Amino acid sequence: QALNEFLDLKGNIRVFCRVRPLLDDEIYFGLRSIISSDSSNLLLKISETKSKQYVLDRVFHQQATQEQVFSEIEPLIKSALDGYNVCILAYGQTGTGKTFTMEGDKDSPGLVSRGIKELFRQALDSNLEYMFTFSMLEIYMGRLRDLLVPRNRNTRNHNAPCLSIQMDPNGDVDIEKLTSVKVSDFNQVEKLYKLGTQLRSTASTMSNSTSSRSHCLTRITITCIGENARRRETSKMWMVDLGGSERLLKTQASGRRLQEGKAINLSLSALGDVISALQSKKHQHVPYRNSKLTQVLRDSLGTDSKTLMLVHVSPKEEDLCETICSLNFAMRVK
Ligand code: ADP
Ligand code: MG
Repeated sequence: QALNEFLDLKGNIRVFCRVRPLLDDEIYFGLRSIISSDSSNLLLKISETKSKQYVLDRVFHQQATQEQVFSEIEPLIKSALDGYNVCILAYGQTGTGKTFTMEGDKDSPGLVSRGIKELFRQALDSNLEYMFTFSMLEIYMGRLRDLLVPRNRNTRNHNAPCLSIQMDPNGDVDIEKLTSVKVSDFNQVEKLYKLGTQLRSTASTMSNSTSSRSHCLTRITITCIGENARRRETSKMWMVDLGGSERLLKTQASGRRLQEGKAINLSLSALGDVISALQSKKHQHVPYRNSKLTQVLRDSLGTDSKTLMLVHVSPKEEDLCETICSLNFAMRVK
């Protein structure tokens, strides 16, 4: 069933789940998966005698390949070219495969590369002419940082300049001074994307945090130009590797760590609030203003846009509590 039909039929927010496979060392230590699944059901083993079932729009089992995941998401590429704002978000506890899904590794690239490659392919095939720009930013402790601008040592400290968010009269979100590079082929994007991901990890090393404590947002804008353009409007495709959703253990976190964790948790719950308000049948106030994350994504979450939430979970027993929390989040936004 095509994702687009799905979206048109049933509203514009979908919630998928991807289960990480057990890694080699986990198998070596004899760990067993506590999750089994079919295409839309996930069965979580809670104890020796008890299991809980979750029904989602789609569940990717542990052996699902990057190709398989991408093929289910591909229809969104067409939507973006057709003028919809699209937002693909990877949610989950640290270590469950969010970065693997979005960024991938050198053997199997993730959704960002595949998505943008496909975007260019479809644009070439189309009889319309398009213009694209690429941007990347990080939200860390409630601050927006451009990931395409090399920075010095102090980049992540509190006083470093950060980008601000404006709303233009059309209701479009504008991020002031965000680098936005005009791109016309995939190789250009690949170079920029590499630069951005490198900057993200050096910034986190310098501030002695980990990249799991920030959100990484990749944006491509699409403008239909030329004589055949139906309208001169720009759509956006966001691909977001969210910060880890794990709750803080009071005993483990203090100081900077605690602040980072609080910032992530706050923004993830603000995101959940926005999506569940959008999903509710009642005409409800949508609380976009509660976090930088939801302010940035404001015009790409909601009525005229298509949103895909990819919730990632771990197959390990020791992660059971976090897995339940992530699946509860999935059910809340579904
Ligand atoms: P996160 O970004 O959620 O913290 P990562 O993407 O870094 O998690 O994944 C943690 C580890 O698990 C990495 O070593 C990654 O390569 C591996 N991994 C995650 N998902 C998969 C998958 N679907 N197949 C194979 N390896 C995976
Ligand atoms: Mg990660």
